[in-house]
Amino acid sequence: MVAEQTWSLGALLDWTAKHLAQKGMEFPRLDAEVLLAHAAGCKRIDLYGIRHAEVASPQTRQKYRDLIRRRMEGCPVAYLVGRKEFFGLEFEVTPAVLIPRPDSEHVVMECLGLAKAVELVHIADIGAGSGNLAVALAKQLPKAQVTAIDASPDALAVARKNADKHGVAERIRFVQSDLFAALENEQFDFIVSNPPYVASEEMSKLPPGVRDYEPKSALDGGPGGFAVFDRLIDAARQHLSSGAYLLVEIGAPQEEQARARISGFAEYELAPTIHDYSGHPRVLKARKK
Ligand code: GLN
Repeated sequence: MVAEQTWSLGALLDWTAKHLAQKGMEFPRLDAEVLLAHAAGCKRIDLYGIRHAEVASPQTRQKYRDLIRRRMEGCPVAYLVGRKEFFGLEFEVTPAVLIPRPDSEHVVMECLGLAKAVELVHIADIGAGSGNLAVALAKQLPKAQVTAIDASPDALAVARKNADKHGVAERIRFVQSDLFAALENEQFDFIVSNPPYVASEEMSKLPPGVRDYEPKSALDGGPGGFAVFDRLIDAARQHLSSGAYLLVEIGAPQEEQARARISGFAEYELAPTIHDYSGHPRVLKARKK
């Protein structure tokens, strides 16, 4: 009987990175590293250091094989490893929530810039998902009280775990609600949101990893992508105190229409759009008069 070939973690990594490249994956080496580190229970850097020459156990190899297979089917790496970094913090993610994007960091940065001056700031995050906005803001603003709202109980469970993990759970209230429906007449200093804004007619054109794996409820913004946006900017008027800010993430092609829709409400004073790292219009900012 021929003994099964032994593989060091380093050799397994090299082989897999090459294999993924041959299959046309966009980030073959990165995916191979992140997934092997996950399978072997170590840091990526260890694969080049202390564990490089270690022989991969049958369990690690089996786990890695399964992860690579699912990656090649299109499953995003963040769902495979169950986490994603956002604003310097590690967030747990499951397929019940959108994977946090760097684009949304602009919502956080803008809110932080404006909130620094406010002592006891009250923030509402509409469509909190993994809790990335709510948790990053609570973490950065030690006196902030945050209300994290989502229609999905599964998303709220993930958000709660992330709040616990980052030690801010006692300052975040989690509310299962369609927008503000479950709240009374409460008012906030900031309403932040990354609502679903992909136009329904564009959903089929999303990259398969997004389209087939991320929650449709967090992406599909209805006709033109404005269904939730319109309801949000309408309802938010009643929930912003005077001088308070609305910060909403949008898709780049929506800027002009989104600005016109906000300008349609006399209560808002519209500020210049905030652009993302790629220079695209990304966050709308309006102040309640
Ligand atoms: N920017 C996301 C994308 O990858 C969409 C996020 C959203 O609809 N809120 O398409």
